[in-house]
Amino acid sequence: MFIDTHSHIYEPEFDEDREEVIQRAKEAGIGHIFLPNINAESIDPMLRLCQQHPDYLSPMLGLHPEDVKGDYRNVLSGMQQQFLCAHHPFIAIGEVGLDYYWDRTFEAEQREAFRTQVKWALHHDLPLMIHCRAAHRDLVDILRDVTTNQADEQKDTMPHGLLRGVFHCFGGTKEDAEELMQFENFALGIGGILTYKKSTLPEVLQVVPLERVVIETDAPYLAPVPHRGKRNEPAFAQHTVERLADIYGVSVPYIMEQTNMNVKRIFMC
Ligand SMILES: [Zn+2]
Repeated sequence: MFIDTHSHIYEPEFDEDREEVIQRAKEAGIGHIFLPNINAESIDPMLRLCQQHPDYLSPMLGLHPEDVKGDYRNVLSGMQQQFLCAHHPFIAIGEVGLDYYWDRTFEAEQREAFRTQVKWALHHDLPLMIHCRAAHRDLVDILRDVTTNQADEQKDTMPHGLLRGVFHCFGGTKEDAEELMQFENFALGIGGILTYKKSTLPEVLQVVPLERVVIETDAPYLAPVPHRGKRNEPAFAQHTVERLADIYGVSVPYIMEQTNMNVKRIFMC
């Protein structure tokens, strides 16, 4: 059994066969699926699905960088309300981060939204599910900045947790990975890209101990080989697990056991 730490199966791509997709995930050995939120609109469908499978699906809450627009402050304050409920179901803040790849119109707003949500993670002692594309330097700067200021801010009465989480869908260089590994309580989320012929990830993983890796799919995106180009689904993660076992020179059960331990450490579940 292993955990898919990042899957958007509440999205419309799964409207036709969502229950079959969940059934296939169980048959493929996936013990639990974590669902990252994207924006205000995706909260309800995500929560409804989690309520139907409370022992199998766990939701996160956060504003995705590509959904940060001029109204981001309103969206964030709506989300913040949800965390005030003592029995909220969210296991992490996500997905959040920076994405300068397609559109830099709102990059200043993205940085502000990210900084705000990193502070939420500390305040509520929740892990972060971080998406970063073409913005490595700014991401590291913000995380470092919040961590250094954390000591000062502890003077106020707010409770502060341990900064921790996942760098989801990592696509950077070996040097980027080394720099991210300096954030001690973070792991890299590894998905279908690992199985692509031209992927540089196998080489990058030489500097990443297995204790710092978790499995993800990012369904419906980035299906692993041999399903590349199709709609991705959690069951396909078995191909990523097999590739990881090759790269680290260990057995498939060992990959599952170790990545489960990593998930438990970060998500405290
Ligand atoms: Zn995602």
